Amino acid sequence: MRVGMGFDIHRLVPDRPLVLGGVKIPSPKGLQGHSDADVLLHALCDALLGAAGAGDMGTYFPDTDPKWKGVASGRFVEKCMELVSRAKMRVVNADLIVVAEEPKLAPHRRAIQESVAGTLGLDSRRVNLKGKTMEGLGPIGQGEAIAAYAVVLLE
Ligand code: MG
Repeated sequence: MRVGMGFDIHRLVPDRPLVLGGVKIPSPKGLQGHSDADVLLHALCDALLGAAGAGDMGTYFPDTDPKWKGVASGRFVEKCMELVSRAKMRVVNADLIVVAEEPKLAPHRRAIQESVAGTLGLDSRRVNLKGKTMEGLGPIGQGEAIAAYAVVLLE
C-alpha cells in the first residue's frame, strides 16, 4: 500500500468556466490557469504521482508548454494513471476536499464524485468528496480563490 497527498489552489476570475473534478459548475467566476484550471483534478494528480513516487505535476505538465493550454485536466489524470499502472499499482480510494466559499458544492457532489471515479476507473463509492468553506477568512474566504486537497491510496 502507498499513500499520496496533493494540494492545489487557483485564483477565481471573471469570464472563465468553473470546472471541478471534470464537471462544469454554474458560477459567475471561474478558475484562472494554463489548462482548464481544474483545481480538484490537479490536487488528485499530485496525490497519484506522490503515491507512485513519480514526482509532481510540474514535471510532466509544465505550464510553459503550449501543448497543455486550455486542456481538460482529465487528460492529466489519465497520464498520471498510466504512471500508476506502470508502477504496477492501482487506486484503492480517493478522499477529496474542495475549499471554496462559493458556489456551494453539495448540489454537485454526486456528479463530481462520479466524474472523478470515471476518470480513475473506480466505483464512485471509492471516491469521497467533501466541501469546506473558510468561514469568510483569507483569500479563499473572500471568494478570490478555490483550493483542493486529495489523498489517494494505491495497492
Ligand atoms: Mg493547478
